[in-house]
Amino acid sequence: MTTLRLAAGDADRAAEVIASGGLLGIPTETVYGLGANGLNERAVRAIFEAKGRPQDNPLILHVPDESWLERYCEDIPAAAYELSGRFWPGPLTMILKRKDNVPDAVTAGLDTVGMRCPDCAVTRAVIEKARVPVAAPSGNASGRPSPTTAAAMLEDMDGKIDAMLDDGPCKVGVESTIIDLTVTPPRLLRPGGVTLEELEEVLGEVAVDDAVRRLMAPEEQPKAPGMKYRHYAPKAPVTVVKGDPDMTAGYIAARMGEGSGILCFDEFKGYFRGHPVVTMGPVSDQAEQAREIFEALRAFDHMEVTDIWAQSPTDEGLGLAVTNRLNKAAGFHVIEL
Ligand code: AMP
Ligand code: MG
Repeated sequence: MTTLRLAAGDADRAAEVIASGGLLGIPTETVYGLGANGLNERAVRAIFEAKGRPQDNPLILHVPDESWLERYCEDIPAAAYELSGRFWPGPLTMILKRKDNVPDAVTAGLDTVGMRCPDCAVTRAVIEKARVPVAAPSGNASGRPSPTTAAAMLEDMDGKIDAMLDDGPCKVGVESTIIDLTVTPPRLLRPGGVTLEELEEVLGEVAVDDAVRRLMAPEEQPKAPGMKYRHYAPKAPVTVVKGDPDMTAGYIAARMGEGSGILCFDEFKGYFRGHPVVTMGPVSDQAEQAREIFEALRAFDHMEVTDIWAQSPTDEGLGLAVTNRLNKAAGFHVIEL
């Protein structure tokens, strides 16, 4: 198929793609998504096919505001509205008990559903016009880094989707935070644009799922099924080095091989002369690191590198989301200094 290019002003045509059961590349503030009518089982199955996504990895339903929650969810706790009041529209997905009208294809058969309201006016307009929730995972081919520009999404999806709606680069750059509100205490399943510290301010105690910080063994079942898959990976193997940035830069410079590519903070690119270097922003700018991380990982696929060394941010604030993506890209091959 030919993928139609749509500009952000073309919300009407984008809504027609959704309403007619097609696949649409949709912008959000986090990453670009691969969207379809979330109530149309066949359209939802086509998302899995286009991505090559395992069937047991559920999708998120995108809605234009919190008033849509009760259409698709039951037993909604007060905390859900406290969170939506504070963080929606924004990079927060809430796991809630689902109603029967949500197709099994969306939830991979779970009795819960992930709900999110993106901070992207054109996408909310598309959903309103199509009058259905949009089911969407990230718009990459399964296993690849998530796309934060329309061009990155088309690298994976050109010819596989009906249309691509371009609204410029994503302003957050890592996928939404996922919080499970069906358990006590609420559980962080995936770190993202809304930080753990911000969630704790509203919810008090928040549990952090094991899959956030370590590799799950094959027999383990993380609560967010997507967390068990190797993910975000460039083609060359990645080694992450964690610790004080001066030390990690020195450590990598002493060990890098002839074909090594380096992912580092802006301040340290001088350490790696003669090597392909990709930067992810200054040490102190976590928002910039979040915006850059996926494009940086994708950049190595256009270079001749045998392996990749990466400096790691800290785990605080947005850093928890950035390190989670980086560690997953490395298959949790992390050296702590
Ligand atoms: P993606 O944004 O591409 O990572 O896809 C959506 C993510 O949401 C995946 O990691 C899923 O595992 C997660 N997810 C969606 N629905 C649920 C649910 N009902 N329970 C737990 N995790 C979910
Ligand atoms: Mg994804």
